[in-house]
Amino acid sequence: MDYDIVIIGGGPVGLSFACSMIKSELKVLLVEKAPLSTIANPKADGREIALTHQSRKALNELGVWSLIDQDEVSPLKEAKVFDGDSPSLLSFNTNKSNIDALGYLVPNQLIRKALFERASQADNIDIINEISVEDVSTSSSSAKIKLSDGRTIEAKLVVAADSRFSEIRRKMGIPSLMRDFSKVMITTRMTHEKPHNHIALECFNYGHTLALLPMNGDVSSVVLTVPANKADEMLSLTEDDFNALAAQGFNNKLGAMKQVGERHSYPLVGVHAQRFKANRFALIGDAAVGMHPVTAHGFNLGLRGQNILAESIYEALDKGGDIGASIVLARFEKKQINLTRLMFFGTNGIVALFTNDDAIAKQVRKFVLKFADKFPPVKALITQHLTESKKSNLLPF
Ligand SMILES: Cc1cc2nc3c(=O)[nH]c(=O)nc-3n(C[C@H](O)[C@H](O)[C@H](O)COP(=O)(O)OP(=O)(O)OC[C@H]3O[C@@H](n4cnc5c(N)ncnc54)[C@H](O)[C@@H]3O)c2cc1C
Repeated sequence: MDYDIVIIGGGPVGLSFACSMIKSELKVLLVEKAPLSTIANPKADGREIALTHQSRKALNELGVWSLIDQDEVSPLKEAKVFDGDSPSLLSFNTNKSNIDALGYLVPNQLIRKALFERASQADNIDIINEISVEDVSTSSSSAKIKLSDGRTIEAKLVVAADSRFSEIRRKMGIPSLMRDFSKVMITTRMTHEKPHNHIALECFNYGHTLALLPMNGDVSSVVLTVPANKADEMLSLTEDDFNALAAQGFNNKLGAMKQVGERHSYPLVGVHAQRFKANRFALIGDAAVGMHPVTAHGFNLGLRGQNILAESIYEALDKGGDIGASIVLARFEKKQINLTRLMFFGTNGIVALFTNDDAIAKQVRKFVLKFADKFPPVKALITQHLTESKKSNLLPF
């Protein structure tokens, strides 16, 4: 056997899982098709990741949180959701609790850099770049992983974290449900005249969605979601026009705004795999569930999934069992798949309702926001879920 575990993909979730295996002393190989510099020193990609308290705790336990420059971590004190031109408003805050923030915004490249730093220093983890996994075949005793350089590696378990468009998922015969939203998300950093007070804004304007994620200082990440056929027009707007569009989109609450970063664009496609395991094979991260980013759950769910898989592996090791055994993978799948399904379809439902501008949908939107805002248990449940201030049975994060 060449390795105990082969991880496919050195994105944030594949690297998190590698970090989870550091204490195991299992021999782990991580294969990433991109060049080393892309994962060792990733460039800003316009994603400011909203981490839940649980995710911060998980990164801390992995020895990664302390490797992130804390000056770049921005606490999210409050979140407000606006609907079109109506006065309906839903807000979440930490006022009635003893915690300091709903969550934490961290630039994606800093999370990835810290994860790589931790994983690459471990003696039991080998990382290879510019090589992709071409195929995987499994038997009752091992898995064979075919690499693009012609080598074949044998391992006890293969863990795929090769993105929502996972080729290996398909090759392993795992069907998935794909939802093309026909929308494009455009993100960029902007400065503004007035302070954001660490309040996130989500404005479901008619025709497009505009969100503001407060970073430290008078700087925010602005996220514009438009129908795919409008994306090129928005991406080619002059800076002055883009600045004006953002300022007006937030009803001038932040005064004049100025783009200070590059514009990045992401076509929105959601994916949920029908199974998270096959023989000696597990799916984690976006390869298992690729979320619409509006509820900011993708990486949070990915961290949770890899953590559950790691716990199941450690349990097998304690009992002297086989880490690739079906029972080990079934334990992981059972704990992760139902929650991710709930989040995936729940998020898609929110997107369908809040981006539908017909008259009935607009009325339903107003009702939903008013109901959720005036009915404390709904808000309490969502706030608990984000902050882990109290264990929620419904959302077992
Ligand atoms: C605009 C935007 C905002 C977001 N905001 C949030 C947020 O606020 N909170 C949150 O929790 N999540 C957020 N997300 C989601 C989050 O970014 C993803 O969930 C996360 O990046 C998934 O990581 P991953 O490692 O599973 O996959 P990826 O990041 O897609 O990495 C997959 C890796 O696998 C490699 N690979 C693919 N195929 C192969 C192969 N055959 N062989 C070898 N390597 C291979 C790729 O090169 C890549 O490096 C956001 C996403 C977007 C687009």
